Amino acid sequence: ALKGISIKGNICTIGAGTTVSELWNHTELNTYFPKLKTHLKLVSSEQIRNMASFGGNFVNASPIGDMTIFFLALNSDITILNSNGNERTLALKHFYKSYKTFDLQEDELIKTIRFKLPTRASHFNFEKVSKRTHLDIASVNSAAHISVENGTISEAHFAFGGVYEIPRYLHKTSEFLNGKSLTPTSILQAQDVMQDEISPISDVRGSSDYKRLLARQLFFAHFMELFPSQFTLNDFIQHA
Ligand SMILES: Cc1cc2nc3c(=O)[nH]c(=O)nc-3n(C[C@H](O)[C@H](O)[C@H](O)COP(=O)(O)OP(=O)(O)OC[C@H]3O[C@@H](n4cnc5c(N)ncnc54)[C@H](O)[C@@H]3O)c2cc1C
Repeated sequence: ALKGISIKGNICTIGAGTTVSELWNHTELNTYFPKLKTHLKLVSSEQIRNMASFGGNFVNASPIGDMTIFFLALNSDITILNSNGNERTLALKHFYKSYKTFDLQEDELIKTIRFKLPTRASHFNFEKVSKRTHLDIASVNSAAHISVENGTISEAHFAFGGVYEIPRYLHKTSEFLNGKSLTPTSILQAQDVMQDEISPISDVRGSSDYKRLLARQLFFAHFMELFPSQFTLNDFIQHA
């Protein structure tokens, strides 16, 4: 029962025991996420993708877990089942409390992940920087899901890994962009908000300053990737 991917209307429900490869192979999801395979190729290796479950990735609670960042930006809910058969649902963005600490009791397991599918007005992107392109954990990773209607951002969700003690959903940055016009000015302002919401540590994957720089570049990269006819790097760095 922990396995499987189902789509009903605009809602996708995924069993927490589902693997990255099962997501990769899902025909319908590849149409909702046209770059799904490109994104998932950045996650470990085929052997690991065949084994690694989403529940495992969430509970492993690495601040740079790729699939955690992916599902955070989709503003996913998780359903948790306890040994009495009772279920509760909470937003993944409220699951993590502090480093490797999360809202799960001894007798509970994550049963499903649920999120709204991207629409014609919404755009999803995933970015990852690591020392090696493949089979490496990220220095910084990020995902974004941005809805735009008539040039205005109607909904935005950003998640960053490797920049905080937990996989970080950017509450303030996401909120800041809601209702803003899709322009370099609002994106540059949002980048400032983003820098206030992160606090990367220096470690083997890079210094704190370097990770802040990576986070900035990935933040801009989302907009350049999702709206290539509107933005180039020059729109952002000449102001920075
Ligand atoms: C060589 C290597 C490279 C890797 N590279 C990457 C990478 O590039 N990016 C990345 O994100 N990750 C990477 N990983 C981690 C990997 O993606 C998985 O996150 C990790 O292996 C845990 O998933 P699992 O299914 O194996 O979980 P397990 O090891 O089986 O479980 C991990 C923990 O979660 C608990 N758990 C599992 N499922 C549930 C559930 N449904 N509810 C409650 N608790 C649960 C288990 O009890 C255990 O405590 C890598 C791992 C390896 C070994």
